[in-house]
Amino acid sequence: MGFDPVSEAKRIEKEIITWRRDFHMHPELKYQEERTSGIVEEHLREWGYRIKRVGTGIIADIGEGEKTIALRADMDALPIQEENDVPYKSRVPGKMHACGHDAHTAMLLGTAKIISEHIDEFNGRVRLIFQPAEEGGNGAVKMIEGGALEGVNAIFGFHVWMDLPSGVIGIREGPFLAGAGIFGGEIIGKGGHGASPHETIDPVPILAETVLAFQTIVSRNVDPIETGVVSVTAVKAGEAFNVIPERAEFKGTFRFFKPEIGELIKRRMEEILDGITRAHGARYNLSIEELTLPTINDKEMAGFALKVAEKLRLRWREVRPTMGAEDFAFYLQKVPGAFLALGIRNEEKGIIYPHHHPKFDVDEDVLYLGTAMEAALAFDFLR
Ligand SMILES: [Zn+2]
Ligand SMILES: [Zn+2]
Repeated sequence: MGFDPVSEAKRIEKEIITWRRDFHMHPELKYQEERTSGIVEEHLREWGYRIKRVGTGIIADIGEGEKTIALRADMDALPIQEENDVPYKSRVPGKMHACGHDAHTAMLLGTAKIISEHIDEFNGRVRLIFQPAEEGGNGAVKMIEGGALEGVNAIFGFHVWMDLPSGVIGIREGPFLAGAGIFGGEIIGKGGHGASPHETIDPVPILAETVLAFQTIVSRNVDPIETGVVSVTAVKAGEAFNVIPERAEFKGTFRFFKPEIGELIKRRMEEILDGITRAHGARYNLSIEELTLPTINDKEMAGFALKVAEKLRLRWREVRPTMGAEDFAFYLQKVPGAFLALGIRNEEKGIIYPHHHPKFDVDEDVLYLGTAMEAALAFDFLR
């Protein structure tokens, strides 16, 4: 390598932090990333990237050659009121970068700058993907439909990670984040007077039975060596103390690492609802939507990332899998790659709150390491 990615990234560290703070102060929700993507596009054009727009998303290419490596950042914020008391606090009431996507965008911008300054030394094409709507919007799918993976040989993405100490790179082969789905439905009985239950079909105990029976899916149907989650997170029935309601509603989420476990969970929910409601003479509706697939890192690509981290003399650790979900999974379905983590937990600075918490923050002093890793991944892959 004619250049040292770590010292190059360190050189522009202030810029990376400035970008991150600017994005942090101006958070935009999924598919509304107009300002953020505008700033990203302006810089990329200035640095000589060829730009293709996909709504508020950007596909940016630089260099030519047989191989293409893609690097991805997400840009969207969350509908959360920030509770941090920092100079770069969100200026938008009710919106906050509480997952660190501001940092992802800033790190990849830094990478973009370094690559553009050294593009003559790169033996191929680098594609940067700045995507919208990672938070429950499956922006990755829109980017893929827009051609983000055309001609791409490998893809990498970073997430800042509260479960790792600051500056530690988290690498894992195989399943890293879970597949996720949502379900919702209602039990339809027959309403009536609270004092005359025999003249009604009370949906409340039927729902209670259903919620408990759902707990047996993971404990009794899923192979104990495997893993899954079924969480009923909302129930609603009736208003008055003396009225047996007609309907009882519920919703929740399920998580899984293997598609067959996801299928099993879906099938069992349907069977349990069908059986319990029939036993009581009630009816039901159930809708299930699979949101995201499991994020499964390619073995070879995870190994490659590890070699790059070691070459840069960065600290790394095998990162624990989580039942959280990431739409990066959709890219990994199409091309080999790996989703990597950058530790940002710093007890001394009070940076300890989990992702999506109103006091979430990132240790900015390590963001340049993410930038360095991205630049090095691109350079080494294209060699
Ligand atoms: Zn998130
Ligand atoms: Zn995120």
